[in-house]
Amino acid sequence: MIVFNIPPYTGKELHYISQAVEKQKICGDGEFTKKCSQWIEKRTGTGKCLLTTSCTHATELAALLADVGPGDEVIMPSYTFVSTANAFVLRGATPVFVDIRPDTMNIDENLIEAAVTDRTKAILPVHYAGVSCEMDKILEIARAHDLFVIEDAAQGIMSTYKGRPLGTIGDFGAFSFHETKNYSMGEGGALLIRDEKYVEEAEILREKGTNRSQFFRGQVDKYRWINYGSSYLPSDMNAAYLWAQLEMADEINAHRLSLWSQYYELLAPLQEQGILDLPVIPEGCEHNAHMFYIKAKDLEERTALLSFLKENDILAVFHYVPLHSAPAGQKFGRFHGADTYTTKESERICRLPMFYKLTSEEVSYIAGKVKEFYHV
Ligand SMILES: *Cc1c(COP(=O)(O)O)cnc(C)c1O
Repeated sequence: MIVFNIPPYTGKELHYISQAVEKQKICGDGEFTKKCSQWIEKRTGTGKCLLTTSCTHATELAALLADVGPGDEVIMPSYTFVSTANAFVLRGATPVFVDIRPDTMNIDENLIEAAVTDRTKAILPVHYAGVSCEMDKILEIARAHDLFVIEDAAQGIMSTYKGRPLGTIGDFGAFSFHETKNYSMGEGGALLIRDEKYVEEAEILREKGTNRSQFFRGQVDKYRWINYGSSYLPSDMNAAYLWAQLEMADEINAHRLSLWSQYYELLAPLQEQGILDLPVIPEGCEHNAHMFYIKAKDLEERTALLSFLKENDILAVFHYVPLHSAPAGQKFGRFHGADTYTTKESERICRLPMFYKLTSEEVSYIAGKVKEFYHV
């Protein structure tokens, strides 16, 4: 059986976790948390990186920092994970969904401006499959209407847009280190902050509303309750797991990219014959091979393809029931404009196995079975 995902594991994770345990400092902001956040800061050039308990929590932090409140609106795609919307619904705001582009499955930058109202507070680009949204246009709209840009870069670590790392282009960016992502700590994430002026508030929000971070740095002589806040810092044991992969980030990225290219080359003939569609990487975007997907003709064909693959011991999956058609999406959000592609494209997508431990032989086998399904 070729499973859909195996969490990334390089072999040094247990060694680092036992180091964290032996140091008798397993709570948040220990040595491994520092190593990981400094690595991300150096690698991406962001102003500040705070490791968090999830990408969901990093997005919640961004919503608090952007001071999103009741009645505010946040523009985002409907084709995304629930956390993109939840972070703002929790603040009493309304997610305003706009359609996606069929080529990248990202928010259609040309439909955003028409959805802006005087209640709009932020734009939330989601970099689907680690492929960047059209950020120049999004930043231009944000500037013109004085909006925050909060990047859901859950899938986007190591990817770039015109040379700029995803997560660092907007005001805030959120990474995920969930077990399904390119680098993992089980559950975890990071908040990237571009502008220095939000760092102090972010540290307080993340540390239960206290100035404990300043206290540990010796900047204040006691720590106190300063603001509202919550607990968004992960245990150093989780960070130790992540460190084992960040150390090998380039190797992991290169291996994923080679599997991705192999899938692409093997399946390109089917695209040329008009049988299925493959992912599109726009010019100026470098991606991280977070995902390899193919698009079947329609829902019926996809259902048949998924069961054929399963009969052949391959676990392929689909995802994102568009948020605007889900119960909570109908309750809390609204769709602006026409749903030309969101529903239609979401019904065609089929994600093939893609993970660090996947082998080139397995990719050949999977691509062969896809061809067999289409009698190619
Ligand atoms: C995985 C993912 C999230 C949530 O990440 P967690 O770390 O599990 O909270 C949010 N948005 C997108 C697009 C994701 O893929």
